[in-house]
Amino acid sequence: AHLDRMAAVEPAVHAFLHVDGERALAAAARVDADRADGKPLGPLAGVPVALKDVLTYAGAPTTCGSRVLEGWVPPYDATVTRRMLDAGLVILGKTNLDEFAMGSSTENSAYGPTHNPWALDRIPGGSGGGSAAAVAAYEAPLAIGTDTGGSIRQPASVTGTVGIKPTYGGTSRYGLVALASSLDQPGPCARTVLDAALLHTVIAGHDPLDSTSIDAPVPDVVGAARSGDVRGMKIGIVRELGGEGYAPGVEQRFREAVEVLSSLGAEVVEVSCPHFSYALPAYYLVLPSEASSNLAKFDGMRFGLRAGDDGTRSAEEVMGLTREAGFGAEVKRRIILGTYALSSGYYDAYYGQAQKVRTLVTRDFEAAFAAVDVLVSPSTPTTAFRLGEKVDDPIAMYLNDLCTIPSNLAGNASASFPVGLAPEDGLPVGLQVMAPPLADDRLYRVGAALE
Ligand code: GLN
Repeated sequence: AHLDRMAAVEPAVHAFLHVDGERALAAAARVDADRADGKPLGPLAGVPVALKDVLTYAGAPTTCGSRVLEGWVPPYDATVTRRMLDAGLVILGKTNLDEFAMGSSTENSAYGPTHNPWALDRIPGGSGGGSAAAVAAYEAPLAIGTDTGGSIRQPASVTGTVGIKPTYGGTSRYGLVALASSLDQPGPCARTVLDAALLHTVIAGHDPLDSTSIDAPVPDVVGAARSGDVRGMKIGIVRELGGEGYAPGVEQRFREAVEVLSSLGAEVVEVSCPHFSYALPAYYLVLPSEASSNLAKFDGMRFGLRAGDDGTRSAEEVMGLTREAGFGAEVKRRIILGTYALSSGYYDAYYGQAQKVRTLVTRDFEAAFAAVDVLVSPSTPTTAFRLGEKVDDPIAMYLNDLCTIPSNLAGNASASFPVGLAPEDGLPVGLQVMAPPLADDRLYRVGAALE
């Protein structure tokens, strides 16, 4: 049914970069056979899922939305992939994204943008717009995204779906092509809070293959998603994430959702996180710095594309030509920014300062979580904007991540839940919930209360 749905809507939505229907049907048949044999099956056995094309799935191409990886077929599964396969989930294919997960609209994909199923002339968010659109368009009931600065939550917000960024270290990064290793985190995309919780449980938990994986029990997110009980919960509205620059419909739906939580017995207070205003500029130094280092391996020698290798050129020339042809403008911009911020003489002024701001943002969270159980804000300042509207203005594009970035810098758990449509344009609005590290269950409790 999902493959049929794809055949009908993919020409307009373009959520997928690679679909292998035969492999998916064979996997589904194996689950049926196991069921017939009376083998014990988990709750998601046989359920289809879409995988962001930045995580490996052995035998399927991984492009990261970039020409530079064209032709690369990884020989191994990411831990997230492996756990889904072991749980009997059926992988439908790989979803579109901004090149190397840099962007907020999927327009930086080398393979063309994804369209928002709610309005095809609008962006589906980014970088994980393909995963969110696949779920919103009923092409897949579940998907995996990765969130470095908001790439699960912002697409969820603008497509009316549920998106969860687990606590950093809660899900494994093994087999995730790194953008910024200290920020990246895989997580679930779904249409309901309980669906997301079930997928979260499958993919989360300690992995010795990831040096930053946390060796602690996975929070009871399914129990929280089934309960939705927010009585006595203290909820803090972040003063710095709201007001000027937020669309009226986003503000309105946010306020209404907070009123619902209050009517269900939560205690709502306003909280100040003064350093959140500096999170965005700090992120856009930390991220390019780490990215410039992580992307150095795409040199035309080891993976995918190799340009200009006609037997007359040096290795260095081939590397240059490969990077020139293989990387898009945004990737080049960030590599240059990152190498600049890390270079001797500028390191202290840029990268070093950004790391200090990161500590201050983390302390703001710690102070806030000493007083409240969760923090809330709009997920993103506006609803889905038009394709092409911000593509030539990097700063306008970066501002989409204003609300989501603090949780990546601090590493705490964070989510976006749908809270209705903005009256002015009829497009989805998302509410962001932020919880302390390893308290991911609180996100689901609040999400379920709003559903
Ligand atoms: N939009 C952000 C960026 O461009 C988020 C990226 C992400 O989370 N992968 O960096």
